[in-house]
Amino acid sequence: MTTPERHLTEPGQRTFPDATAAEWSDWRWQMRHSVRTLAQLEQLLELTPEERAGCVETAEIFRMGISPYYFSLIDREHPFCPVRMQAIPTKAEARVRPGELLDPLGEDKTRPVPAIVHKYPDRVLFLALDTCSVYCRHCTRRRITKGGEAELNKEELRRGIEYVRAHPEVRDVLISGGDPFLLSEQRLEELLAPLREIPHVEMIRIGTRVPVCLPMRVTDALARTLRKHAPLFVVTHFNHPKEITPEAREACERLVDHGVPVENQAVLMRRVNSDARIIKELSHALLRMRVRPYYLHQMDVAQGLEHLRTPISKGVEILEQLRGHTTGLAVPHLAVDLPGGGGKVTLQPEYVVEHASEGTVFRNFKGERYVYPEPEETDCTCPYDSVWMSQRPRTPSR
Ligand code: SF4
Repeated sequence: MTTPERHLTEPGQRTFPDATAAEWSDWRWQMRHSVRTLAQLEQLLELTPEERAGCVETAEIFRMGISPYYFSLIDREHPFCPVRMQAIPTKAEARVRPGELLDPLGEDKTRPVPAIVHKYPDRVLFLALDTCSVYCRHCTRRRITKGGEAELNKEELRRGIEYVRAHPEVRDVLISGGDPFLLSEQRLEELLAPLREIPHVEMIRIGTRVPVCLPMRVTDALARTLRKHAPLFVVTHFNHPKEITPEAREACERLVDHGVPVENQAVLMRRVNSDARIIKELSHALLRMRVRPYYLHQMDVAQGLEHLRTPISKGVEILEQLRGHTTGLAVPHLAVDLPGGGGKVTLQPEYVVEHASEGTVFRNFKGERYVYPEPEETDCTCPYDSVWMSQRPRTPSR
């Protein structure tokens, strides 16, 4: 009798000792064995009273689901483990404060068909499904991911694509949900191919947490499917350097090696990653695996998430400790998505000290003052512009 193969990773082996290596690296096995109930959780780790109450009190509010892989990253000895805080509910999540919103970004006001949110002039959000590999405790789109909307049926998908086709101003489609990487390659193809055929769709982006929570899903077949529809950008969601494991790195590098650029949007969360040293380490680790730190988001004003919100000043303070102190590629944009649908605004530390007669006075990252003298000529019109505008191709070539 042969001994079954064991896990590739020690933490996985410790948490799910009966799984074989082949099962562990099979994303569908991972999904089938997600930790979904309080009873399952309690068999795997000792919960704090806050967590136990959180599981009970949020049961009707937002589902729980943790892939075995992501679960294996949890520090079972420490309730402030950043993976644990993102995966296991606490009592605070059940508390809704005045002013908190179910739809914090006002997306439902601009949803002309169920699959489309059209808030900005030249881009749309395409909601492809309502399931995820892990239900993040900080999810601000939980009105969709809590279940009930289900995978986009063929008719809704068709209406979404028709909407994009009928709106020539849409040059960028961001596919999200839920997590689009949980679709099979065939279902993804059914979505991507018709979008790619629309002449005015210049680029496609896919928002996914799969490289973080279910990296074994990023197979060569998936990467090839995405590459066919370039220019296509993957926007992933690492929040802490603890999430950057050899498996996550392999997933991101597989995408990049296939010619699919990957960018990261992190969310600033109080006591999870609200520290400049952590964000800097995260940025450096992302760049080492060829992922560009793109946004650092201020937490939205969403129901049950006040305990994770940081003061606005904390994000600015973190940015101040990055800008100039490390490579500019490692400094994400700090963004606030305004409550109620106002859209994104970005923040940065104030470097202009004054506008003086000799020029604009700045302070640099060390606090030293420098004057930037203004030029004598200030006419900034571009004389060739009208020529270029008449000559440029009507439909940009890919
Ligand atoms: S993966 Fe994204 S959509 Fe899904 S629960 Fe997490 S934050 Fe929400």
